[in-house]
This record gives sequence, C-alpha cells and structure tokens, in this order.
Amino acid sequence: MSKQVKKETQLGLHAKREEDFGAWYSQVVTNGELIEYYDISGCYILRPWAYSMWEVIKDTFDADIKKLGVENAYFPCFVSKKALEAEEDHVEGFAPEVAWVTRSGETELEEPIAVRPTSETVMYPIFKNWIRSHRDLPLKLNQWCNVVRWEFKHPTPFIRSREFLWQEGHTAYATKPEADVEVRDILDLYKKVYEELLCVPVIQGVKSEKEKFAGGLYTTTVEAFIPMTGRGVQGGTSHCLGQNFAKMFGIEFEAVDGSRKKVWQNSWGLTTRTIGVMIMVHGDNKGLVLPPRVAPIQVVVINIPNAKLSADDQKALAEGANGLADTLRGAGVRVKLDTRENYTPGWKYNHWELKGVPLRCEFGPRDMQSGNCVLVRRDTGAKEVVPVKDLGLKAQEILATMQKDLLAKAVAERNAEIETILEWKDFVPALDKKKMVLAPWCEDVDSEELVKKKSNEESDGGAAKTLCIPFTQPPLPEGTKCFITGRPAKSWTLWGRSY
Ligand code: AMP
Repeated sequence: MSKQVKKETQLGLHAKREEDFGAWYSQVVTNGELIEYYDISGCYILRPWAYSMWEVIKDTFDADIKKLGVENAYFPCFVSKKALEAEEDHVEGFAPEVAWVTRSGETELEEPIAVRPTSETVMYPIFKNWIRSHRDLPLKLNQWCNVVRWEFKHPTPFIRSREFLWQEGHTAYATKPEADVEVRDILDLYKKVYEELLCVPVIQGVKSEKEKFAGGLYTTTVEAFIPMTGRGVQGGTSHCLGQNFAKMFGIEFEAVDGSRKKVWQNSWGLTTRTIGVMIMVHGDNKGLVLPPRVAPIQVVVINIPNAKLSADDQKALAEGANGLADTLRGAGVRVKLDTRENYTPGWKYNHWELKGVPLRCEFGPRDMQSGNCVLVRRDTGAKEVVPVKDLGLKAQEILATMQKDLLAKAVAERNAEIETILEWKDFVPALDKKKMVLAPWCEDVDSEELVKKKSNEESDGGAAKTLCIPFTQPPLPEGTKCFITGRPAKSWTLWGRSY
C-alpha cells in the first residue's frame, strides 16, 4: 500500500452522527484538527483551526462591547480563601468545583489559594477602592481569560471542560434600571454571536431560581439546542447580581444627594462552548461544516493537474489557480491555495470537507480552456460553474447565501423539536422523542426538583430541568394550571435534558 493511499484511508470519520453522536463528535474535533486530547481529563489543546474561530468570536464581541463603553483589563487568576468565601451563596454554588493550590514545591502554603472559577471575588474587593462617588459610575470592565472549574459531569471538548477560555464582563451602576438595560444589551450580543456568526438559533430567557447564577439576583440566558441528541445547552449568561456582592465587599458610593448607596452589579460570560455548539448543530458525516463568517478559510482553491498535460500547460494551470486565489483575496475572502503535490485532488477534497471549509474552488485543464472554475458548497454539495472573471463576486454571493441558509436550516430543525404540553403525562414521552418541552409552570422551586426526580425515575434518558423562561411568551389563558403541581401557572417555561 502506498503511503498516500494509507493516508487517504485514515481521513474519514468512522462513526456516524446519527448512530453514535458522542464518537462522531470526538472524531470530528480531533480529525478536523480542532482539538488535541491532553493527559489531564477535561483539559484540551485548542489547535489553530479552533483558536482562529475563537479569535473571530472574540474580535466581533470585543468590538461590540467597546461600543457600549466597556474597557478590557486583566486580574490575577488566584483568589484568596477569604475573598472567595465572602458571598455565601456564591461560594456554596462554586465550592465543589474550585481547584486549590495548597503547596509551593515541597512547602505547604499557610493558607490555600483558589484558582478562579469566575472573577467576582477577585475583582470586587478592588472595585471597592475604585468606586467612591457617583462620578466613578458606571464602571464597565471585561477580561478575556481562562477559568478553572473542576466539573464532575462527563467532560466534552468545548462544551464542558475543566479549564476554558471566556470573556467575563463585570460592571457596576448607580441604579437597577441601568443595570437591567445592560443585562439585556449583552444578551442581545450573545444572540448575535450565535445567530449571525455561528448560524445557531438561540432562545433568550430568564433562568429559574434554581438555575440562576450563585449569589446573583437573576440570570438571563441564550439557550441553544442540539436536535440530534435532543439536549439543550446553555449558550451564555448575563447576570444581574443586584446588590449582594456590593453588600459583602462594601462597594458603596456617595450619591448626588450626598447619601451613601450600594452599587448595582452585573456579570456576563461567553466561552469556547460556542464552538462546540456550532460543531454539533452543523457538522455532518463528512466532518465539520463551518459557517462562512467564522471559517478560518472560506474558500480552498484546488487545481486538478493531469499527467497528460505538457510542462507548459501544467505551469499555466498552477499559475491560473494562483490567480484565482489572488482574485478571491482581492474580494476580501479568506482563501487557501492547496498546492501540495503529494496528495491527489480527491484526498484534498476530503481533507478540506472534514475541516469544514465552506467553499471549494476546483480548477482543471478543461476549466482553464473555457475560462471557468467550479465552486462546490460544503453544506449542500451544490456545484456551480463560474466564469473566472466573476469569481470574486460569485464567491462572496454564495458565502453570504450559505451563511443565511445554515441559520434557516438550523432554525427549522430546532423549531420542529419544540413540543408544547399541558400535563405531566405528556412530558417524559416528549423528552424521549428528543424534544424540548414548553409547558405552563408555577415557577416554584420545589416543583423543579420534583420534575427532575420524576423524569429520572420514569425514563432511562436522564433527568430534565428548566432551560429558561423565554422572554417571548405565547398567551397564557387565565386559569392555566402548572403541568406538574396543578397550581396556577405563571409562565410558559422551556424544559429539557441538557449538556
Ligand atoms: P457562568 O459564569 O456560570 O454563568 O458561566 C458562563 C457560561 O459559561 C455559561 O452560560 C456556559 O455557556 C459556559 N460554561 C459553563 N461551564 C462551562 C464549562 N465547564 N466549559 C465550557 N463552558 C462553560
């Protein structure tokens, strides 16, 4: 077996998405050169193909928050025990997942130091020094960093890792209405990242009391859904912390009228989970399918040499392909010309399909003669013969169409999996059909526990919880009863199994 043939057989995915989703996902992220596994469970290496997608997300979101007046800063990754434990509910929520440094070399530290699971308790002792007067408000900071949460749940690359990259925004306002506005502005930017960059539809809503951020006042969320597994996934969260942290850390200011007041605070975070959700929603049995706006390479140009060509024609073909790449670059497209001679065009097609490049531009001797090239879409496989002179415009047009089509397809697939129910008897059967469930709910904390327990008992598929109370509510007729307790329902709430 030649070296090349051997390589070719290694390329494809062995697992089928619809048969073994977990194995498929693992193969896509490794064979697609996004992730390398590491010898500490739950920690992953982000390879350049993944990291450049994170950079697109980062650049887009960073520019958007700067328009809102947010400034970037950087705080240390360690937290003292005293600071971490200052807000009781907060520490209770995070305690089981906190990693501690207890030793330096052979010497035990006098007091263990925690690695930040999130930075409220790192930043707010300092906010106290920076905020004295109403003139110091609002304070709007963000940092791009890593955090560590020693999760118990099964780790999954991007989706649930023990160390992950994120941005965390931390802001302080004089009044609650100002803080409320920002919570929603940020949530809209999270929706924008998911829908406009990653073509993943999300549902915006508020978290239940049980699911809200530990120590916060209320949590808003963008919830995505993976139709293949029937699981919801919390895409990003924007919290109003109220005055709880201000109270514990003594963050007070002198108001215009001379009185002393506590600040109102928000925090909000979006992580590399975004990339995992995008992979799960769009990938297929050939590999990744990347939305053009986030793809590190948007078009790959592959020339198709023919052994029968004269040396001059071979040269002309190579130069022609080079010209196509230049044209695309000139049209503002991220392009790669794959000139590797040790691989066949067929192998290259598979390789770039596996990596999810949105468009392939094929260029062979016949194309050269006719002044054309062939564009092939990654998502649909649709081929189009394009005159070389139109290539720049045509590629831009197809990439824009693909961006729209991917979102429209994902919206249709997601919407088909939302089932509205009124009674408990229909709940678990809907979950077992891999649905998200919209049900009238009383919003009482004990009833969420009950749903968790009963759904776990009645099916092998695992427990369900609230995903969110969507902001967009269908009408709730007077007298509608809660599907689990029979008490008066307060809202339509989205439930599901989740990541
Ligand atoms: P939180 O600060 O807990 O609200 O987390 C912010 C966001 O981080 C959540 O909305 C999730 O989308 C994401 N997230 C939480 N845990 C993890 C994890 N272990 N790995 C990757 N992303 C996570």
